[in-house]
Amino acid sequence: MLRLFTLLLLLSTLLWALSSQQELDLAKKNLYSHSKERQFSAYDTYKRYYIKALIKDDKALILRCLDGICIAGKKLRIDVSSYEKKRKNLEKKSQKKPSKIEKYNPPKPVTVKVSKNKKSKRLKLSSKRGLRGFRWEDKLLVLSFDFRLKSRDVNYFTLKPEGNKGYRYIFDVDAIVYEKPVIKHREIKRITISQYKTNKIRIVIESIKPLHPRFSFEDNELRIALGVSTVYAPKAKVGVFKSQNSKRLIIIDPGHGGRDGGAVGYKRHLEKDIVLKISKKLAKILRSDGYRVKMTRDKDKTVSLKYRTKYTRKNHPDLFISIHANSVPKKNAHKAKGIEIYYLDPKRGSQRSNRLERKENAADYSAMNSSMTKLFVATQSRAKVIESNFLAIDMGQNVVSRLREKRYKVKDAKVAGGNFWVLVGATSAAVLVEVGFVSNPSEVNLLIKNKYQNTFAEGLADGVNQYFRNKERR
Ligand SMILES: [Zn+2]
Repeated sequence: MLRLFTLLLLLSTLLWALSSQQELDLAKKNLYSHSKERQFSAYDTYKRYYIKALIKDDKALILRCLDGICIAGKKLRIDVSSYEKKRKNLEKKSQKKPSKIEKYNPPKPVTVKVSKNKKSKRLKLSSKRGLRGFRWEDKLLVLSFDFRLKSRDVNYFTLKPEGNKGYRYIFDVDAIVYEKPVIKHREIKRITISQYKTNKIRIVIESIKPLHPRFSFEDNELRIALGVSTVYAPKAKVGVFKSQNSKRLIIIDPGHGGRDGGAVGYKRHLEKDIVLKISKKLAKILRSDGYRVKMTRDKDKTVSLKYRTKYTRKNHPDLFISIHANSVPKKNAHKAKGIEIYYLDPKRGSQRSNRLERKENAADYSAMNSSMTKLFVATQSRAKVIESNFLAIDMGQNVVSRLREKRYKVKDAKVAGGNFWVLVGATSAAVLVEVGFVSNPSEVNLLIKNKYQNTFAEGLADGVNQYFRNKERR
């Protein structure tokens, strides 16, 4: 709701800026016309905008309007002495040159995104002080230059944009950039590098959350440590860090596959296809976050439940994530929707998950029944149940917030305990994610979209990261 409001506010500000610009341009034309009527109309417009400018406390606009009122007043022989006084006072206060009507540009409330394909013009500069390249080392952004950096070459400051969410960290470096590099990091909103002045580049790091960057120089490198985690950015010296994540193994288990299509959804979209796509995206993101990742299947093939649990038990993962999609019979197809995350809890299981358990366990339930029961008892500890519960909560919250960030309307994720055989193999935290209902026409239409799948996977990965961060503190 708040986001919608902000968006509307932004939109109305933009529309206001556009229409006001047109009106003020017209007023300026009228002001210098020979028709008294048009001059009067200009006088009227400036007076109207003067009030608006006062309310908005827009100094530039106030000055512009006062200018207009005074000029029109003289032409129309209206007494505008009080306005003249105000203008003089204002000019004195700002101690700036009186702004001329011609010079005024209204503030732009929104930035315009430049399309990706548009290549920036190469700057013709002869300086040998160029930015040569960049690379990521965990959360460390390393920029390498053609020359040895000294502290006087770099000017660092932060900006908190007024009325805007987020933070801006700015590095000005005495150098040139040959081509605008595309630098992306999934936890950072935007990184832009541009030629700010002829011999100065500006690096702007925009983030929703505070990053507290630290930076250091090493020969020809500017090393910027980003992120709040001290693991990645020790205060004293910035070196090469290997993240804890490289020691952690995560097994991702895309449900069903091959002969077993899983749930058949609206327009015959199959569970096995959707969950494989999301699983692969999740694997990719987690690998880029430094984790070791294994998958029980990475293509469309039949995988028995027995194999999944055996494979998991053999590999001792730190996390096990099974990905599924839900469905209900046709008569409830429009009603049932939403994300559900289950953790293994032998003692619990709501009505809802009992039905789901039967469905997800159905694959080869009978074949594994006896041997699995022993295993089930042997491997379930209270600690695992609790850890799995934490993981489920972290994932649910992060998926929902990622999706809402991208303006998808989703309910809070349901988190519940259940008895899913596939979760038995893991000795540490394990969850089963039901990404949504393939039986729901609108939900399945999202679930098959690449963008939605990406956002979903990013949310799950955020959940994993948060789970480990919290675990370190527990
Ligand atoms: Zn399933």
